[in-house]
Formats: sequence, structure tokens, C-alpha cells
Amino acid sequence: MTGKQGSRYDSLVRDCYRSGGYVYAARPRDATGKIGVTRIARLASNENPDPPSPRAIERGEAALCGANRYPGDEVTDLVRALQDHHGPYHFVTGVGMDGIIETVLRVFVTAGDRIAISTPTFSFYGIAAIGQGADIITIPRESDFSVDTRRFVREAGDAKVSFLCSPNNPTGTVTPVSEVSEILEGISGILFLDNAYVEFCSEDYRPLLKKHGNLVIGRTMSKVFSLAGLRVGYAFVPEWLVPFYMRAMTPFALNSISASAATGALEDRDHVSRARERVTGLRDLVCRECRYPVIPSGANFVLVDVAPQRGCDVASQLASRGVLVRSCESFPGLGDTFIRVSIGEEWEMELFLKEINRL
Ligand SMILES: *Cc1c(COP(=O)(O)O)cnc(C)c1O
Repeated sequence: MTGKQGSRYDSLVRDCYRSGGYVYAARPRDATGKIGVTRIARLASNENPDPPSPRAIERGEAALCGANRYPGDEVTDLVRALQDHHGPYHFVTGVGMDGIIETVLRVFVTAGDRIAISTPTFSFYGIAAIGQGADIITIPRESDFSVDTRRFVREAGDAKVSFLCSPNNPTGTVTPVSEVSEILEGISGILFLDNAYVEFCSEDYRPLLKKHGNLVIGRTMSKVFSLAGLRVGYAFVPEWLVPFYMRAMTPFALNSISASAATGALEDRDHVSRARERVTGLRDLVCRECRYPVIPSGANFVLVDVAPQRGCDVASQLASRGVLVRSCESFPGLGDTFIRVSIGEEWEMELFLKEINRL
């Protein structure tokens, strides 16, 4: 992405923002107007197709009426709701998990510090680390996308912060709790464990927090909780980190409407279990019926290897038939034959299977 050329001041911009940046998924607009497309299957962003819980909507609307005041109690109430939901852990909140990643890096990283990232994975760790002037080490996964924990420990070594995503975006791979524990014991820095999709698998990493003072577990309200548009993230943190995080955080970052809606969403456990059941059933269906290899996934998406075709070609052919999926070329280390397909509603998965199987 390059900005408009020509300002006499653009030489002031830092080199790290002269290229690259976050790659956004295809939007419905990209597929509308195509011949024969009546409905669009939105399978590119791993959202929950169900609208937010009525409890989330009700609380969000009530908070809107008090929006003349700065947020305060709404965020305190959210932390209390998190403790009701998960137990007596220590939490921080932010503008999406992305906002938390940014703040955590601000706490620990100055220019030239080392950051380790297990790849291929979510791009924002690297983007945020570059913003801090970090020196980034990438640690490739095995060919089946599992993590070589000994290699991870050796190469992450004394990195200030290491990033591991489980279930991993975009591969869906789940790293067992025992392996995460080995990593925590072996490294001397912080492990940021990204659990954006953990509700869709059966692994529970929370017990690791008791033993390891260097573990931060990132969570989001954007996926299973259906609140992607409100930008709410939270993290389990060790108690010692809380005051440092609060100093580094942008004041009032999380707004009162988002915080209140998130509190409502956490109270609706049926909403979550409905989504989990739908995802498990339809994920199995896609694995069984897709004629291309599907990588085993513990998330609400699957990675599909469309070789010998290119992921971007398949994604654009599917888009022209009303099915939006994510082409995966932009994930370094993955190669160019993959697409990532969110598990949406039943009709969306049936349409996806029909179209992919006749390509
Ligand atoms: C979606 C996602 C997030 C967080 O998203 P927010 O909307 O910023 O909370 C974080 N990590 C991964 C791997 C994701 O896919």
C-alpha cells in the first residue's frame, strides 16, 4: 500500500510504513453484481454468522444513552463478567485482541529488541512489532503445521516476547497444552498465546497461568461471541503485569458501548454453545465432502490445499460465484496453493462445496 505521492513532507514517514500493512479480507461488495449471484456466502473473515446475542444488543443500546460520559463502570463491569465467566483470573481489556497485542508490545519492546513468531500465522504480530522497531525472528512450523517445541525454545531463546497462535490462523492447527508448557519453561521472555479460536477446540490453556508468570493469553469477542464490529479483546495476564499494562494503554481505549455489549454477550452461554455445535458439525461436513485436502482444524475455519491451482485464482473464481473465501498468499511461509474457508451457515457451506467441487 503506498500513500498519495507528492507531499513534500512524506519523507518524514518511517520506513516501516512505506510498504506492507494488514491485508483485509474480501468484502461482499467484491462479489455483488456478478451474473447469477443472488446471495453471498461470507467465508473470508472467520466471523460468527449469527447476529450478536439479544443480551449484548440490549446492554449496548442502554450504554449508548449514556455516551456523553467517558467510559468507566462499563469496563469494570466487563472485567467482573469475565471473572464470572472464567473464574478469578487477572484480566486486561483492549480494542480487539489487536489492541492488546499492541499494548503488550509497547510494555516490553524498544527498538532492536528481539521478537519471535511461529509461522505461518496471523500477520498483525509482525506489523505491531515492526511499529516498535523490533527485530523479528520467524520460527517455521513443521510440514504438517505442528510446532517443533525444541526448535521454538532454541530459536526464541531470549526474545522479549514470543507469539504462538493456537488454534493457529490460518492453518487451524491446535498445539497441545503440554507442548505450550514446554515452551513456557524453556524461554526466558513472555509467551503471547493467541486463543482467538479456542472456543472451537477442546484444549484449555488457562490452567497454565497458575504455574507460569510469563504467559499472556489473548482472547477476542470478535469470533464466537459475534461482536467483531465492536472491537473488544481481553487477555488473561499474570497479576504483576497489570499496572504496567495500564500505564502503556491508550486511555479510555475500550468504549462504553462495546464494553457493555461484551458483558451481555458473556452472559449468554447458549449463544456460544450453538455456534460451537454448528461449527463442529459443518467442519466435519467440509472435511468429508471437499475434493481437495483439508488440513485438520480446531477453529471455525479450515485451510484447503487447492494445488496444483493457485489460491488466489480459486478465491477469485469462487467470488465470481458468490462465495468469498480468503486466499492465503499473504501469509509468509505458506506457499501459494491455499485458501482459508470460514465455517458459516449450512447453506453457505453447501454452496462452497458445490462450487469448489466443480472447479
Ligand atoms: C481475529 C483474530 C484476532 C483478533 O481479533 P480482534 O478482532 O482484534 O479481537 C487475533 N488473533 C487472531 C489469530 C485472529 O484470527
